[in-house]
Amino acid sequence: MITFKVWVRHPEGLPDLTCPIVLCDGCRKEIVGPGNVLWVDSHGGQVWHTHKGACDRRVSQAIRRETGADHELSRELSEWMAQLHRNTMVEPPPCALPDEEVTS
Ligand SMILES: [Zn+2]
Repeated sequence: MITFKVWVRHPEGLPDLTCPIVLCDGCRKEIVGPGNVLWVDSHGGQVWHTHKGACDRRVSQAIRRETGADHELSRELSEWMAQLHRNTMVEPPPCALPDEEVTS
C-alpha cells in the first residue's frame, strides 16, 4: 500500500512535508530496497506491495483467497516504479529527503 510519512523540517525553520512511502501488505513495514508488486488482472486495478520472501508468499495466498484467482501477476518493485515513471512521462524533481529526518 502507499501511505505517507512526515518529513520533519520545523527545527530548521522550514515547513514539515508529508511524503509518500510504500508499505508491505504482508507485514505493514516500510519497503526500502527490494520488493514486489502483485496484482490480478480481473480485480479492478488493485495492487499489493510486498517484501520478497515470506511476505510475498503470505500476500499471494491472501490474494488468491480474496479474489478466487488461481494465480497473480508480479513484478519487481524497482521495475514497477521505473515503468510508472516512464509511462507518466514526467521528469522527477531532485529528491531532497535526508534519510535521518523522516519519521512515521
Ligand atoms: Zn513485509
